[in-house]
Amino acid sequence: MKILIVEDEQNMRLGLKDNLEFEGYEVDIAEDGESGLKKILENKHNLVLLDVMLPKFSGFDICKKARENGIKTPIILLTAKGEEVDKVVGLELGADDYITKPFSLRELLARVKAVLRRSDNTSTDDVVKIGKLEVHFTSYNAFENGVQVQMSHKEYELLKFLWQNKNKNVSRDDLLKNVWGQDVFTTTRTIDNFIVKLRQKIETDPNNPKIIITVHGIGYKLISLI
Ligand code: CA
Repeated sequence: MKILIVEDEQNMRLGLKDNLEFEGYEVDIAEDGESGLKKILENKHNLVLLDVMLPKFSGFDICKKARENGIKTPIILLTAKGEEVDKVVGLELGADDYITKPFSLRELLARVKAVLRRSDNTSTDDVVKIGKLEVHFTSYNAFENGVQVQMSHKEYELLKFLWQNKNKNVSRDDLLKNVWGQDVFTTTRTIDNFIVKLRQKIETDPNNPKIIITVHGIGYKLISLI
């Protein structure tokens, strides 16, 4: 998950960057409206945190221009106290949410997660970070620290299904039906073998999995905080 921060105040910008990176997000930054808009138009972020009062273009201008250019990336506006009236304008211009400064980190993270969750169901084209791996589901590529990791088509399909159902219990029957379809030769044993292979690629310690965990008597669950 890649988040773009467009914010001219250095302390705010760096504080947000550090905290979001600590939470596991990849962070890109822009210091003024012009470079912010340019980066948004590259359309490679999952979310934008956009300050309203910026040099060159305001957050409102950027929001409007981004939507006019067909950019659908969710945008959370950062407004200052006393700009409450402007929030309505921001939402009308296509922002997804706003948060008023000063805000707590907890509040911000809750908004970020909520907005990402809402936009998440629309697409699995995103590049996602799962454990050690950066996974590109659309192009069937996976990387660990920039080095390509070999994964079979079926491993991608299995990982994709677990990712789409992240933080939920997924039974072996669900996996058989949705990932293997009508293949009569597949048994639940096959699934377990595939899970072992995925863990070796994803987990820091495959013998003590923290991401694809076993749910006894049911199947598996992919844990993700993002
Ligand atoms: Ca500002």
